[in-house]
Amino acid sequence: MSGLNPLLQNLRLPGETVRLPSKALYYSSEIVTDDVKKDGELHVYPMTTYEELLMKTPDLLYSGQAIIQTFARCIPQILDPLQMYSKDIDFLLIALRKVTYGSEITINYTHTCEDAEEHEYTYNVDQFIRSSKSIEGSYQPQDSKITLKNGQVVTVRPFILQDVIDASQRSTSTQFDGMSELEFVMAMKDIIVGGIGPAITQVDEVVDREMITEWLEALPPPLISELSSKIDKINQFGAIMDVEVTCQDCGEKLTINVPLNPQSFFTLPSAPAIEN
Ligand SMILES: [Zn+2]
Repeated sequence: MSGLNPLLQNLRLPGETVRLPSKALYYSSEIVTDDVKKDGELHVYPMTTYEELLMKTPDLLYSGQAIIQTFARCIPQILDPLQMYSKDIDFLLIALRKVTYGSEITINYTHTCEDAEEHEYTYNVDQFIRSSKSIEGSYQPQDSKITLKNGQVVTVRPFILQDVIDASQRSTSTQFDGMSELEFVMAMKDIIVGGIGPAITQVDEVVDREMITEWLEALPPPLISELSSKIDKINQFGAIMDVEVTCQDCGEKLTINVPLNPQSFFTLPSAPAIEN
């Protein structure tokens, strides 16, 4: 029915073609369609009110459903967003925002200088898309094998969306209030181990998740730091969310890191404040 309605055909906004920071180099045909695998390019269509509401619903965001549903409608060449690198997902969220609301974004920021007040700073999201770093600088298949100082070989990969969802569900389900110091230490250990664990796909010949977790928990701190700095390094691609602004109070040049939080990122730049 909707395919025959000329009103809807005229409504469909063109959107934009973008190239994934990962260029889809290491994606299977279950993750993106074959044409995307050729050059990493895909088309992003604007959101409608329906997708906009999905992206603003906290429970749907935490479960990943908001992104699954929105990408299915707006970026149909993506087949399984949960398995995509989280840096690609961040990049696509910026592109989605741009094609839906335009390039301009306003953020409120208060500097740390004396008598600083909150000001609005406007910037352009095109710079995030243009300055995005492609994956080759930080990750190639030969970087996936790390030989630790003790001789063990660890196979790693960049974080995927599923890892990010699991991590945020773990951290929101941890109740720090009322914990004993010992419980706190245990919870922090779980967060540290849980934070790098998903990036590890194999240790020596072992791929069993439980064995890998047990091994990580027994790993001495210097080896943990060695491992996490290597994992950090392979994740350094995608959009750089830094904006240069001049403080309106003291005139200092500042770099603000814009958080890619869908709840604040997916709001209209000029939406009127709702007063009660
Ligand atoms: Zn200032």
